[in-house]
Amino acid sequence: MGLQKKDLLKEKVRLLEALYRRFEDFLPSGGTACRKGCDTCCTLNVTITTLEGYSLLKKTDAVKVLEKQESRLRAEAHNRYRPRTTINEWAEVCAAGEAPAEEATPDPGSGSCPLLKERLCTVYPARPFGCRCMVSKRCCAETGFADMEDFHVTVSTVFQQLVEHLDADGCTGNLVDVLLAISRNGDSAPPGSSDDCRAFRLLPNRPLSVLMVPPEHRERIAPLLAELRSIGYR
Ligand code: SF4
Ligand code: SF4
Repeated sequence: MGLQKKDLLKEKVRLLEALYRRFEDFLPSGGTACRKGCDTCCTLNVTITTLEGYSLLKKTDAVKVLEKQESRLRAEAHNRYRPRTTINEWAEVCAAGEAPAEEATPDPGSGSCPLLKERLCTVYPARPFGCRCMVSKRCCAETGFADMEDFHVTVSTVFQQLVEHLDADGCTGNLVDVLLAISRNGDSAPPGSSDDCRAFRLLPNRPLSVLMVPPEHRERIAPLLAELRSIGYR
């Protein structure tokens, strides 16, 4: 990997981490059922960008953990959720008044995340945004779903759009596919073109063109959006 690309990735990882921190400030400090060892949300269905995967691999030995589970992951390859549209593509299509491609429904019984060990996340400080935004007012194991405030869903969606925007020349896909794609790419660099993405069963990312904020949340989210713009996320 050339020096310029390395420096660019380093800067993008810095911005990604700042986004994660800003989202953490937004999260409620109490009033959720989330606690250490609660792992119902840690399934095989987590999706991430290649920048997130690159950042995670730089800080953890996740690839070795996946390699140890190779036969399980191969056997379960058909089970893991693979999105058909990225969040920014979805937003563009909806804004154009068109119908987005029908998504596969993630199977909650698809199996646990391979990075989970003894009910704890082995990469917790480096976990991707899709894990960070999961909170629930009630225990998911009891209800079968995560019970979130509507405004939390809106803010999470906006951050998800920014995470993709930051990696607009990368890809999005299932966590396992992304980590394996980066490790197989030879120099631990994320795949870098649309063709590369598709070769690894990933989707090419898109820059953000329209934010998915429902009318009832526009006023409430405005200060956060102004702050994010002022620090250069759009
Ligand atoms: S989102 Fe649900 S499963 Fe995940 S930690 Fe919170 S309560 Fe537990
Ligand atoms: S990366 Fe960690 S937090 Fe995310 S699903 Fe896997 S074990 Fe859970």
